[in-house]
Amino acid sequence: MKTQTRVAVIGGGIAGCSTLYHLTQEGWSDVVLLERDELTSGTTWHSAAQVTNFGMTQTMVGLKTHSIQLYQELANDPDYPINYHHGDGGIRLANTEAQMDGYRHFASMARGMGVEFEVIDAAECARRHPLISTDNLVGGLWDPMDGDIDPAQLCQALARRARKAGAEVYRNTPVTALRQRKDMSWEVETPNGTIHAEIVVNAGGYRVNEIAAMMGVRHPVMSMEHQYFVTDDMPQVRDAGHRMPLLRCPISDYYCRQERDGLLVGFYEQDCRTWGMDGIDPKFTNDLCPDDLDRITDVLEGAFARMPALMEVGIKTVVNGPITYSLDGAPLVGPIPGKRNAFCIIGLRAGVGEGGGHGWLLAQQIVHGEAVYDTWGLDPRRFTGHDSVELTALKAIEEYQNEFRFHFPHEHRPAGRPFKTTPLTALLEAEGAVMTQVSGWERLDYMRPAPDFVEAHSFRRTDLHEVIAAEVQALHSGVGLTEVSGFTRIEVTGADATAFLNRMTCSRIPSKVGRVALVYLLNGQGRIKCEATLTRLEDRDGAPRYWYGSAAAAEGHDFDWLSQHIAPGEDVRLTPLTETHTTLVLAGPKAREVLSATARGDWSAEAFPWLSARPATVGIADALVMSVSFSGELAYEIHVRNAQLVPAYRALRATGAAHGLTLFGARAVESMRLEKSFLHWKADLLTEFTPFETGLDRFVRMEKPDFVGKPALEARTGANPAKRLVTLSIACTDREAQPGATVQVGSEVVGTVTSAAFGHRTGLNLALAFIDAEQARIGTPLTLDLIGDIIPAEVIAPNPFDPGMTRPRG
Ligand SMILES: Cc1cc2nc3c(=O)[nH]c(=O)nc-3n(C[C@H](O)[C@H](O)[C@H](O)COP(=O)(O)OP(=O)(O)OC[C@H]3O[C@@H](n4cnc5c(N)ncnc54)[C@H](O)[C@@H]3O)c2cc1C
Repeated sequence: MKTQTRVAVIGGGIAGCSTLYHLTQEGWSDVVLLERDELTSGTTWHSAAQVTNFGMTQTMVGLKTHSIQLYQELANDPDYPINYHHGDGGIRLANTEAQMDGYRHFASMARGMGVEFEVIDAAECARRHPLISTDNLVGGLWDPMDGDIDPAQLCQALARRARKAGAEVYRNTPVTALRQRKDMSWEVETPNGTIHAEIVVNAGGYRVNEIAAMMGVRHPVMSMEHQYFVTDDMPQVRDAGHRMPLLRCPISDYYCRQERDGLLVGFYEQDCRTWGMDGIDPKFTNDLCPDDLDRITDVLEGAFARMPALMEVGIKTVVNGPITYSLDGAPLVGPIPGKRNAFCIIGLRAGVGEGGGHGWLLAQQIVHGEAVYDTWGLDPRRFTGHDSVELTALKAIEEYQNEFRFHFPHEHRPAGRPFKTTPLTALLEAEGAVMTQVSGWERLDYMRPAPDFVEAHSFRRTDLHEVIAAEVQALHSGVGLTEVSGFTRIEVTGADATAFLNRMTCSRIPSKVGRVALVYLLNGQGRIKCEATLTRLEDRDGAPRYWYGSAAAAEGHDFDWLSQHIAPGEDVRLTPLTETHTTLVLAGPKAREVLSATARGDWSAEAFPWLSARPATVGIADALVMSVSFSGELAYEIHVRNAQLVPAYRALRATGAAHGLTLFGARAVESMRLEKSFLHWKADLLTEFTPFETGLDRFVRMEKPDFVGKPALEARTGANPAKRLVTLSIACTDREAQPGATVQVGSEVVGTVTSAAFGHRTGLNLALAFIDAEQARIGTPLTLDLIGDIIPAEVIAPNPFDPGMTRPRG
C-alpha cells in the first residue's frame, strides 16, 4: 500500500467508486480508495438500482443525465460490458390535478437541461404499462430514459477504469483513525499501514458517522430500513413483447420494475423504521436486516389495487437493507463544514442512479474548487447546528414517508419544527403569524387573515394572493414591521480586517464608520460566491470592526469561505453573531415617524441618510439601526440582541399603533424585492455566473489592486457574456412562474426562471431569469412554459417599481 497520496476516498460503494473514477477524469491519478471489506458490500450490492432522469432541480436533472450517459458508455464498453437496461421508460403516477401540475412544472424545468419528459393521461399510462388499472388515476410523468443497472458491475467498471488511469483500490482495508496535521493534510490509519493524504473523502454509506467521528464532526444523515421483494416469473411480463416500464407511485408509496420475467416491488411504508441509531455492529457487512413484510401491508394494498396481477404471484426473494437519508432528503456532496481538505459524498438515498453524477460534481469541486453546476442544494454547509441524531431521525422518517411526494411551492413539512426560534416566535404566532422555515429558523411568512385560514399549496395562484396584496398595500401606504430571524451576522475585526475584506470582495467596502454597502464575493473563477451587507462600525481596541450580514441560509457557507481565506499571520477575527442577535425591519413611508417616536435622536434623511448605520436605544433596548431596504420602501433594519428583542418589538408596536403599523411577512418581501429586481442568494446569485452576467456591473471595482476572482474576470475581458439575468413581465393572471421554468423563443429554449412573484405595487406578474444574451434586450418578446401552458412574456427594464430609487432615500 502507498504511504502518500493526493486523495484518499474512504468507502467502495457507488459513491466512492464514482468519486475515484471522476478524480482521474479530472486529471488526478495519484488517488486511492480504501474499502473496509469488498467493493459494494455496504448498501450498493442489494440496491434495486433504478436509474431515473427525474429531478426537482436543474442540478439534479443535470447530474442524473451525466449518470445515464456514463452508464450507457460503460454498458457499451466491449472490453467490460455491464448490464444496464436503459430506455425502458418509467411513469410517476398522479391521482390529482395538483400533482399533474407539479409534473408539468418539472417537465418544463427539465427541458431547460435538454431532457424531455412527457405528461400523459391515465389511458396512456395504461397503454404503456399493460399491468396497471386506471382506477383513481389522473395520469403521470413519462421519463423515457428510466431503467436499471447491475450495481456491482457498475462499481467494478468504475474502479477498473480508475485503476487504468493510475488510481489504486485497497480492499479489506478499514480506516480506523484520521488525524489532521498542522499543514491540514491527513494521516489515514488502517491495519495495513498509514497513508498520508492531502485530502480525504467520506464515502462511507451507512457508516458515515463512524468516519465523521474520526474527524470530530457529525453529519445529519440517518439510515432507514427499506424493503423490496421480487416475484416469481409472471406470464404477463414474459409475454408482453417489451420490458415493463418502471412505476413510481406517490399515492401508495411503492415502486416497481421488471426483474427477469417477474417484478421487483419496493415500498416506502408509513410505519417505517430507523436503523443503526445507536451504533452499527462492526460485523454487519454484505448483510441485510430481517424481512418484515407485516410492516408494509398499508402500502401493499395500494400496489395490489394498481396491479391486480401482483395478487396472484408468489414472492421469490425479500430484501430489507439500510438506506441513508439526510435531513432534507438530498445528499451531502461537497466540503465538510469547519474542516479543511475534507469532503463528503453521503446521505445518498438513490445513490446508484445518482452516484455517477454526484461523483462527477464532487471531483470537480475537489480539483477545481467548484463544479459546472451550482451545487448549493447538495452542499453540506446548508445545515448549521442541525446535526443531532434525534432531529435527523425525525426528518429522515418524514422524507422516507414522502419519498415520491414532491414539495409544492412554499410547502414546509412539519417534522422537527419548531427547531430554531427567537424570543418573538411564540408572540408573533399568538398574533396570527403563519411561519415558514428558513435554514431551520421559524420566520414570519404572512399574517393569517382569519383564524380558520389554511393556505392551499399549489402551482397556481391561491387565496393567499389577496392576503399578500393587503400586507404590501398597508406597508406601501403606511408602515409595516417584520422579524427577519436567523439573518447571518459575522463580526470581522482585527488590524488586517480592512485589507482582508477588500481582498475578499470585488466591490467597494465602506470606509467611514457608520456607512453600509452591499458587496459581492467571487470564487476563483470570477463567479458569484456570496453577497453581503457590510457595515463599518466604531473601531475596537484600535482595530477596524465590521458587521458582515448575509442570507440566513449562508451562515455555515460564508463563515467557512471567509475563514478559509485568512492568510497565515493575518490579524483577522471572525465572530458569529447569528444566534445572539435578530433583525426587526420597519418599512414604509411612515417608518421614519415610527422610528423617531421610538428612539431618541435625529432620524431625518440629512442626519441619517440611506445606507447609514448607528447605535440607538429602541424603547429601552440597545440596537444597531441601519437604513437599508429590500422592499424598495423607506426602511430600517433594527439589529437587537435576543435578550432585548421583545422590548424593542413592543416599543415599535406601541408607537407604531398611532401610525397604523401592521405586520408583514416574507411573502410580501418576496413580492416587493421582485419589483426592485433585487436578487436572492442561491436563487439568482449562483456560482454558474459572473457578476457581469448577473447584471451587477456597478458593484465590481476592477480598479482595485486585487480581489479573489479578479484574474479570472480579467481573463474574460472582452468576451461577450453568454447569459444575462433579466426581469420579465408575464402576461398571465392565474399563476406565477416557479423557479426552474423554461424560457423560450418559439420552440427554442433560451433560459430559465430563477425566482418569481406577483408585484402588488406595480400590478406586474414578474420573474427573474437567466437567458441567452442575444435575447436580453428590453422589449424582447419571449414565452414561458408554466405548468404546461405557453405564456407570453417580455423582457422589461429592471427595477420596475420606483426606478429612481427615491423612496428608500425618503
Ligand atoms: C432496498 C434498497 C433499494 C434501493 N434501491 C435503489 C434504486 O432503485 N436506485 C437507486 O439509485 N438507489 C437505490 N437504493 C439506494 C442506493 O443503493 C444507495 O444510495 C447507494 O448504494 C449508496 O451507496 P454508497 O456508496 O453511498 O454507500 P455503500 O454502498 O454503503 O458504500 C459505503 C462503503 O463504505 C465502506 N466503509 C464504511 N466504513 C469504512 C471505513 N471505516 N473504512 C473503509 N471503508 C468503509 C463500506 O464497507 C461500504 O462498502 C436502494 C437502497 C436499498 C437499501
